Amino acid sequence: MERANRASSTVAGQARWEISHETFAAIEAEYESLVGWASEYVAELGRKLVDEDLYVDDGPLLAAGAVSWLTVDAADDSFQYLVEMRKAWTQRGYLTVGQVRGVLNCLRAKVERNRHDAGAASFNDHFPMLAQLMRTARDAGLRNPQLRLSTADGYQLKIKWAGARSRNPGSIYVLERGAVHDPLNPGFGSSGAYFGKLDGETGEVDAKLQQHDGVLETLQAFEDNPTGEALRQAGVIGACCFCGRTLTTDESNAVGYGPICAEGWGLPWGKVPERSTTTEVREQFDAQVAAT
Ligand SMILES: [Zn+2]
Repeated sequence: MERANRASSTVAGQARWEISHETFAAIEAEYESLVGWASEYVAELGRKLVDEDLYVDDGPLLAAGAVSWLTVDAADDSFQYLVEMRKAWTQRGYLTVGQVRGVLNCLRAKVERNRHDAGAASFNDHFPMLAQLMRTARDAGLRNPQLRLSTADGYQLKIKWAGARSRNPGSIYVLERGAVHDPLNPGFGSSGAYFGKLDGETGEVDAKLQQHDGVLETLQAFEDNPTGEALRQAGVIGACCFCGRTLTTDESNAVGYGPICAEGWGLPWGKVPERSTTTEVREQFDAQVAAT
């Protein structure tokens, strides 16, 4: 306890402190689940910690959570900084505020990584149907087959074959059309952003694309139901999602794409709108009623 309160200088008017083995033992005896609490605390902060974040009433509790995580949960973590901090804790018998801050930032990074992994796991890492349709269109002789898809948060995607002389021939690129800037994701919304690529044969998602949940969500909707999503996208973007042209006939509006794209991409067209049997029966009945 003595070392925890030892004042050698001040930050923001408060005494500089360290967490010693004695302080840690005292806090740990009083509180449960400090690591879980500290994990939520640093995650909710929404940014990296600075030393000043520890000069608050909960500072010593955060420090105890940091030590607990460092010496128990992350005891096998071979990240060099954590190895050094464990050594400092064991050999010197305390951690300074700066060291506690460093450990908590490692914990924060760990929490963020786990959250991202949990989010990414809910999406496919292969889109074979999408890749197959892209091959169908290419093999049908369409000069530059593309898919235009709008994401739920308003990004316009352009999905196209990588050029034969590009660095990734045979891959399908996922790019951004137009410039939509998102202040929360700097660099994400710049014009012509490159999100990643799919394998043209298997539809496998590359590591870069795996980091864009909103894009994956959109690709998965198309993968699960290509014609249904083509129709929905036509409503969103006001045009055929394959060629970008405005739809002009009832047949095209009924499916969301025109006859040329239907043929090129191997999709049904022209069978709709078909009147249901129920409608015809009802009309005949109405006509008979009117005649009598
Ligand atoms: Zn079209």
